[in-house]
Amino acid sequence: MTQPFAPVSLDSDLAAMSLPAVSLRYSVAMPQPETHLFEVSLEIQGYSHPVLDLKFPVWTPGSYLVREYVRHLQGFRAVDGQGNPLTWQKLSKNHWQIASPPSTVAVHYRIFANDLTVRTNHLDGSHGYFNPAAMFFRVVGQEQTAIALTVVPPDLSWQVSTPLKTVLEESHTYLAANFDELVDSPVEIGTQAIYHFEVLGKPHQFAIWNQAAGNPFTPNAQQANQQQPNIGQILSDTQKIIEVEAELFGGLPYDRYLFLLHLTANAYGGLEHKAASSLIYSRFGLSTKDGYLKFMSLVAHEFFHLWNVKRIRPKGLEVFDYDQENYTDALWFCEGTTSFYDIVIPFRAGLYDAKCYLAKVSEAITKLQTTPGRKLQPLSESSFDAWIKLYRPDSNSRNAQISYYLKGEVVSFLLDLLIRQQSQGSLDDVMRQLWAQFGQPEVGYTRAELKAVFESVAGVDLTEFWARYIEGTDELPYGGLLEPFGLRLVIAEVSPTPYLGLTTKADHSAAIINFVEAGSPAERAGLEPGDELLAINGYRVRADQIGDRLQSYRPGDSIVLTVFHQDVLVQRSLVLGEPVPVRFELQPVPEPNPQQQQAFRQWLGIELATL
Ligand SMILES: [Zn+2]
Repeated sequence: MTQPFAPVSLDSDLAAMSLPAVSLRYSVAMPQPETHLFEVSLEIQGYSHPVLDLKFPVWTPGSYLVREYVRHLQGFRAVDGQGNPLTWQKLSKNHWQIASPPSTVAVHYRIFANDLTVRTNHLDGSHGYFNPAAMFFRVVGQEQTAIALTVVPPDLSWQVSTPLKTVLEESHTYLAANFDELVDSPVEIGTQAIYHFEVLGKPHQFAIWNQAAGNPFTPNAQQANQQQPNIGQILSDTQKIIEVEAELFGGLPYDRYLFLLHLTANAYGGLEHKAASSLIYSRFGLSTKDGYLKFMSLVAHEFFHLWNVKRIRPKGLEVFDYDQENYTDALWFCEGTTSFYDIVIPFRAGLYDAKCYLAKVSEAITKLQTTPGRKLQPLSESSFDAWIKLYRPDSNSRNAQISYYLKGEVVSFLLDLLIRQQSQGSLDDVMRQLWAQFGQPEVGYTRAELKAVFESVAGVDLTEFWARYIEGTDELPYGGLLEPFGLRLVIAEVSPTPYLGLTTKADHSAAIINFVEAGSPAERAGLEPGDELLAINGYRVRADQIGDRLQSYRPGDSIVLTVFHQDVLVQRSLVLGEPVPVRFELQPVPEPNPQQQQAFRQWLGIELATL
């Protein structure tokens, strides 16, 4: 590996940071990677308090769910400077305490790592990856103390990729300025392919695990090549995305940046950091056009977060409390607005045209307008309850909830149009003002401050907009905000079958109901998720036949469904309703006037007539 960053001596570095007397050093070894066990040691020197409290994070910033990472910890022991055992006490699930500790304490434990996601840990014979929130204790009271980290790979061929500052390259020793920075710095250890590139004079890396692991049974070389990502394309498109985002915010607020990518058979995810993104994606997805663009959206999304949510943070996330939920009603802005930009940025970077951009917006609107929960859960509440709802979907979620990613994206799109119409600005100006006012100084914004920034850019009072569409559940005002740009939202497609109000999943050939829409004919008839659908009007039906079978009925027809409900055979009668919309589309208004044509051209850079 070519390490482009000059190592400096640990001692001079520590001295330069004028550290307190306490020193904290972690080491992570993995002598038997196939066991999935990381061996972690923490050495604390110069400690002089009556008790030593060690607390393990229960969640990781960027993923708003208490994940109880400490459940993977085993073999905790503590010794003094001579290696003599120290007694300790557990005070809660994630809290260890050592009373009257000596000035030097070493703590040893193992972390079982067999969960391959961006927010957990994974170790096997091919690599190690850890998300530090799931690996390291916080020494209570020493959160601002610098922490040295030494990684001990099991094999000389394994290298280390991390955004942490390198202090001793030969021993893989790094330094975090404080606990927050340690938590924010993922680590990849293995034979990952590493690509270096520069943007605006700053070094960037793309590190890819599993890039070369093709299918040995691939029948021909051409297919094998299709499974390999086109790395040149990825790097050049990533560079364009970085340039567009840097232009928006006026520069890059880091010294260097690392993209970590795990390629697997079928996975999707990302976790943002201040100077890194952890990404996981399907290797096969990269070889289709849609899949590739979805991946570049993911890159744009996680990269955008280095401003929005990593530095521009709501008050509730200003100071991380790793022991419990950190509540905020602004995740719609942190995630939804970032989702709005993850399709805008690739468009501005030239990865697709305005038509394709609008098609992606239409797709998001379709998802929102076909989710019944939008009528029940306000966007602000969806944000606040992320901890108990978004990551824990059940069969009722679509009826009762709306994703703050999805609705936040569509609301951001509409707010962008509103600002463009009311002033000469756009959502870009909101981002820039937030960056100057809250991001650069890293001060959390309140709900009122966020709204005030929108209002100052738009030049209008947004109290009613907030009350109805962010804190309320009114249907979004598409018509009024699209019309000045010569667009309207139309129903592009209705269901080919009359309305029943349920969906099924196939369990072999059996059709198992997995969703029943609130207020639908299916719900009124007493059908429930979990029921096995056996027959329509007495004729057996398999999972893949339901759509076809329903097409032979008309709205208003009565039908009888035979199901197993809790293993009991029952019949349910219902009347089919009118077909419902399944696809919405942004389309030009029939006869756009010159003002509309001009507004559209100024917005997207093409003629409305070319849509
Ligand atoms: Zn995100």
